[in-house]
Amino acid sequence: MVDTEERVGAGDAPIEDPARDVRDDIMDAYGVPEMLDKIWFHKTASAVIDADRCVGCGACIAACPSKSIGAGSDGLPTLVRMCTGCSACWDYCPMAGFRPERLNHQSEEDPVGPIQEAVSARAVLRPDGAQDGGAVTALLTTLMERGHIDAVIMTQKLDAFVGSPILATSPEQIRTGAGSVYHQSEALAVLNERAPEHVERIAFVGTPCQISGLRAIQKFPWERRETLAHKVVLAIGLFCTRSFDPKKLIPMVAGEGVNLGKVKKIDIREGKLVAAGEGGEELMKKPVKDFHAASLKGCDECADFAALGADMVVGNIGSEPGTSTVLIRTDAGMEAWVKAAGAFEDAPIDELSAVKRLALRNLDRAKKNLQREYDPEASMWVSYTEHLEDYEGTEREAAPPPPFRSHHYTVAC
Ligand SMILES: Cc1cc2nc3c(=O)[nH]c(=O)nc-3n(C[C@H](O)[C@H](O)[C@H](O)COP(=O)(O)OP(=O)(O)OC[C@H]3O[C@@H](n4cnc5c(N)ncnc54)[C@H](O)[C@@H]3O)c2cc1C
Ligand code: SF4
Ligand code: SF4
Repeated sequence: MVDTEERVGAGDAPIEDPARDVRDDIMDAYGVPEMLDKIWFHKTASAVIDADRCVGCGACIAACPSKSIGAGSDGLPTLVRMCTGCSACWDYCPMAGFRPERLNHQSEEDPVGPIQEAVSARAVLRPDGAQDGGAVTALLTTLMERGHIDAVIMTQKLDAFVGSPILATSPEQIRTGAGSVYHQSEALAVLNERAPEHVERIAFVGTPCQISGLRAIQKFPWERRETLAHKVVLAIGLFCTRSFDPKKLIPMVAGEGVNLGKVKKIDIREGKLVAAGEGGEELMKKPVKDFHAASLKGCDECADFAALGADMVVGNIGSEPGTSTVLIRTDAGMEAWVKAAGAFEDAPIDELSAVKRLALRNLDRAKKNLQREYDPEASMWVSYTEHLEDYEGTEREAAPPPPFRSHHYTVAC
């Protein structure tokens, strides 16, 4: 159980507390009945990061009103200045404070979610480095060239294994971000940055957990602080079964005898992880399950394969190699697709059984690995106390911080 004295800061006089403002705003505006526990970042970290459950979405960094959280040198969120205990890192973490299945109205009967149109698409001018049909890059560059968006928050490949989040403000920058990297870049963190003045309409590209974090911040904003989330007019999700920790994946691929210097692209297709070279030649092709030890443990708790909260979701499953499967979910998604007409060759998809199979597989996996109840009907919010009770005694229970972090907390929390 959480120590109440510790939570409120033993002996503290009443203070003008930014935490209360954030939570009170949410409660007042949305009638959220109870938002229990006051949480400092070190508690989010112990339940998520130090318990090896973090999926690197960056929502905690985006949501922190005092910009106290940044990306650490180990690739995980870390405290960069004093924590006010406002609890936002907890509330907006899809692995902790809210239920993505409730936010996204996930249904077991229809795990793929609402679809207005399903197409196989290939960019007419397929960008260099595109992962599949280049649909995402072609859509975004065309929307920007035609004046419909001003910027894109996306993940740029630094090499075949590692990506970095950027706010792209030109079609050239978008093109350099073509291709997938199976690494979580904490892209949502960009929402907490300043954008150039002219940027009013932003598109966001991300994995389903990132889309959930984005939607949570958009749907439950607070009055005294703005992030760039309110400027995001188009959310493009990517199908996702899991992501990887490059620090673990790189040595495993090298261990297969692959010359890492030659690897230009990692792909996951039909259950195989493929490392490909400059000309697309296969350097390695092995079952994805052989690399399970390098995947993010938190992904096993994620039920959302098909980015249920996105305006559209893109992947390769269900389409021929070199084309992208695009499921358009919302009016905003449809409007964007129509505005980019001419940028693709596309054909309708009538049959989504492969997508459905993977969506169900993610759902089953999550139900097995989540230590709390998977429940789309339950309260949106999960308190820290509930979390501790649900995870206590399991291999995912809250863990003490490593020494470098605990020193940091003593100083800054
Ligand atoms: C971690 C991960 C797992 C995936 N798993 C599957 C899967 O199991 N089945 C499936 O069908 N498809 C999966 N995909 C999607 C697939 O790899 C392609 O991204 C998708 O088909 C779009 O291809 P494209 O050619 O249209 O996109 P492109 O035109 O190549 O553009 C790709 C876009 O994705 C963005 N991006 C790249 N990497 C990341 C990242 N790590 N996080 C956020 N955004 C990123 C880039 O910024 C770019 O805008 C996965 C993608 C990722 C990142
Ligand atoms: S899962 Fe996302 S929100 Fe939660 S701690 Fe990790 S980066 Fe932050
Ligand atoms: S499997 Fe889920 S948690 Fe893991 S990266 Fe993909 S969307 Fe995020």
